[in-house]
Amino acid sequence: PAAFSRLEVAVLGATGSIGSSALDVIARHPDRLRASVLAAGRNVGALLDLCRRHRPRHAVIDDASAFPALRDGLRAAGLDTRAHAGDALAALVASDACDTVVAAIVGAAGLPSTLAAARAGKRLLLANKESLVLAGELLMRTAREGGATIVPIDSEHNAIFQCLPDAHARGGLRRIVLTASGGPFRGRGRDTLAAVTPEQAVAHPKWSMGPKISVDSATLMNKGLEVIEAHHLFGVPGTRIDVLVHPQSLVHSLVEFIDGSTLAQLGLPDMRTALAVGLGWPERIESGVSGLDLLAQGGRLDFEAPDQEAFPCLRLAFEALAAGGTAPATLNAANEVAVSAFLQRQVGFLSIPALVEDTLAALPPIAADTLEVLAEADREARRHAEAAVTRLT
Ligand code: NAD
Ligand code: MG
Repeated sequence: PAAFSRLEVAVLGATGSIGSSALDVIARHPDRLRASVLAAGRNVGALLDLCRRHRPRHAVIDDASAFPALRDGLRAAGLDTRAHAGDALAALVASDACDTVVAAIVGAAGLPSTLAAARAGKRLLLANKESLVLAGELLMRTAREGGATIVPIDSEHNAIFQCLPDAHARGGLRRIVLTASGGPFRGRGRDTLAAVTPEQAVAHPKWSMGPKISVDSATLMNKGLEVIEAHHLFGVPGTRIDVLVHPQSLVHSLVEFIDGSTLAQLGLPDMRTALAVGLGWPERIESGVSGLDLLAQGGRLDFEAPDQEAFPCLRLAFEALAAGGTAPATLNAANEVAVSAFLQRQVGFLSIPALVEDTLAALPPIAADTLEVLAEADREARRHAEAAVTRLT
């Protein structure tokens, strides 16, 4: 394509793991893609490095106290990139500064910008799964009304998207099977998990990811969040979503149709493939990821059932999905608080499911169709879980 038809891409969470994979793919296609907006949380130095390399039109730092350092750093580097603080992000995402948005902020903090992209009808490459867990119905409705195309950038959901690109094929869908690596503690009994450290929990055997999702993978909450995510993205009830542990992480998920066919997507565990699917769709573009050599990978694909006793978070997520209303928002918020407390060594690993279960029991779900109700459920669950953390420490 000619230069004027380049896609202008906003990368939200640019300094993170998904952000850096997205920028890697974008930089391989200067003729068709440009990083036009880069947004990060508080690391100005890392954001400035990315601005020097990718020369975006706009750079956004969420932490307002870091704004002067960003502005001055851009000027000192001789860049004409405009600096913004976080309160400008939603408006920028909705503006003509971008037509594609990579939503890769971690946690519920990603919801406002994700919703803004959906409302403005952007192509939304959605990695920020917490926004779907917290406000899935609202986000899907907003995307429909805004005319936004959502391409999931979770490897499992991207796999399903590739197996199921047409909404009309979903009439013949019988069930979805999400694969899970099992995380670093696969095969261990519950009693051996009390003393594991944050370092052990974030050392994922197959994927290199940010700290929060790495802990979620270790507790299997990540798979639970993904069950809820799949429900919203593909309109399938929890009763027709299964989870299979697949330690090689080469089969990224499967879909089964009423005629007995099962389709799966396979590839190396590298998020650049999913990002290239989203950035190029409906065309295929190079991602820098090599193809799969099943023999070199050991010639085996193994599958086993998840251990729900050692890893109760998966069950809690299924229960929250079945309960509906504000329950998934409560689950997500309590989990964010618990994971952050675990990473700061305030609570142990087994306190993560305990805190989530306790918060869900204390705050019965109510019907939720507005952002206000969901945001209040999120705040209330955080207050409850934070008080429980304080009692534990
Ligand atoms: P990460 O911790 O590596 O990066 C998070 C990014 O978000 C950073 O750039 C940080 O600066 C930014 N950020 C945090 N708070 C912010 C705020 N308030 N405003 C603006 N920016 C903010 O995390 P990650 O592993 O890249 O994951 C990002 C999201 O993608 C998560 O929702 C995660 O669940 C999802 N995801 C990640 C992977 C993966 O392989 N890493 C796979 C599937 C889904
Ligand atoms: Mg995933």
